[in-house]
Amino acid sequence: MSYTKESIKHEVSEKNVEFILLEFTDMMGDTKNVELPIDELDMVLNDEAMFDSSSISGFTAIQESDMYLVPDLDTFLVLPATVDEDQSVRFICDIYKPDGTPFEGDPRYILKRAMKEASDMGYTVNVGPEPEFFLFKLDKEGYPVRQMNDHGGYFDASPKDKGDKVRRDIVRTLKKYGFEMEASHHEVAKGQHEINFRFDNMLKAADNIQTFKNVVKDIATNHEYHATFMPKPFSRENGSGMHCHLSLFQDGDSAFYDEKAEDGVSKVMKQFIAGILHHAGGIAAITNPNVNSYKRLVPGYEAPVSIAWSHSNRSCMVRVPTTRGKGTRFEVRNPDPTANPYLTLAVLIQAGLEGIRNELDAGQDETRNLYEVTDDSVPTLPTNLKEAVKALKNDTVLLNALGDHTSRAYIEAKEEEWTRYSLYVSPWEIDQYMNK
Ligand code: GLN
Ligand code: MG
Ligand code: MG
Ligand code: MG
Repeated sequence: MSYTKESIKHEVSEKNVEFILLEFTDMMGDTKNVELPIDELDMVLNDEAMFDSSSISGFTAIQESDMYLVPDLDTFLVLPATVDEDQSVRFICDIYKPDGTPFEGDPRYILKRAMKEASDMGYTVNVGPEPEFFLFKLDKEGYPVRQMNDHGGYFDASPKDKGDKVRRDIVRTLKKYGFEMEASHHEVAKGQHEINFRFDNMLKAADNIQTFKNVVKDIATNHEYHATFMPKPFSRENGSGMHCHLSLFQDGDSAFYDEKAEDGVSKVMKQFIAGILHHAGGIAAITNPNVNSYKRLVPGYEAPVSIAWSHSNRSCMVRVPTTRGKGTRFEVRNPDPTANPYLTLAVLIQAGLEGIRNELDAGQDETRNLYEVTDDSVPTLPTNLKEAVKALKNDTVLLNALGDHTSRAYIEAKEEEWTRYSLYVSPWEIDQYMNK
């Protein structure tokens, strides 16, 4: 749906709208918003909504903190009553500096730059994300406790699956948000769920991931559960991933499909995959952004450990599903839902385009179960955040993808996070070493 200022004003006047929510995403991937009364609609539509960005992670220093929220009119939405009982509308915004130019640290801008690079090469990219999540119970005060909402497993039905009503409500609400909903099911771990929505262009897909996560959390709260996207809540259960299916188009046709190739996969697709595999170490710092992320990337839980690609093997970072024709795509399996979706898609696409430019070779597809390969014949993803950040620091392609501002701020923040974590003495250590 394409909106204009006039059509938005018209729709607002037809409905009894009271509030305007202006949303954006900080460097860490959290949605931020500020609310204005509807009387400010003209000001908002004139790109005059100013905010102090100095307390937003990864944004600016105190001396240059005035920024503008410029609403992307295509993201205009009257919020469904299940999410907000008062009539309010939301816009997802781009961040601009007082001089009228885009703020280089705005994750949405970083993704738009990647999209521009793709379109300069004649490509558009579609992304289908699959964020998984857990539902936890709440205590009397409404705080989450570490107890899943059920003991169901993969595709289990009610009554083993106690998430079915919550998921239905989420699906209903997202449809009102304009999402095209696909399947919804119980996932492998107890209390773990997945709801799929249709792929879209990169920007829309990233916006959708943010909206999805917020709706899931809101609706879970309505059902007196806590939804978490943390990658690995339990050490001996599957974690939550956010697989990303990527497809590439040129002049409306799939650039990934080659009917003459034996496996139906084009050279361009293999080069794109090669670019991602080549930059995997640094990519992980973005797609697997916290210390808990790396506890998911271990053998035995359907999460990838190896930097390799395959046609069906889920232990590889990249898997190529069997669909051909326009649906020819590959699935990047390491991202998790705590990743900033804008930065995630930006680094994946920039790495892939670099693979095409340099005609990189992805090598043979992997057919072994890599969980069982213990020699060094296949490179592995970083095993912790520190290794990933180190790889990012040495990867000029990814640093350029992020831009100076965000590269610096992100690396600094993640190194600090690692230091805090490594100084922490955990209950496990007390248990193991107290009697020494
Ligand atoms: N939860 C698994 C992961 O961590 C994926 C399981 C699946 O979707 N089959 O990636
Ligand atoms: Mg899935
Ligand atoms: Mg899944
Ligand atoms: Mg998947």
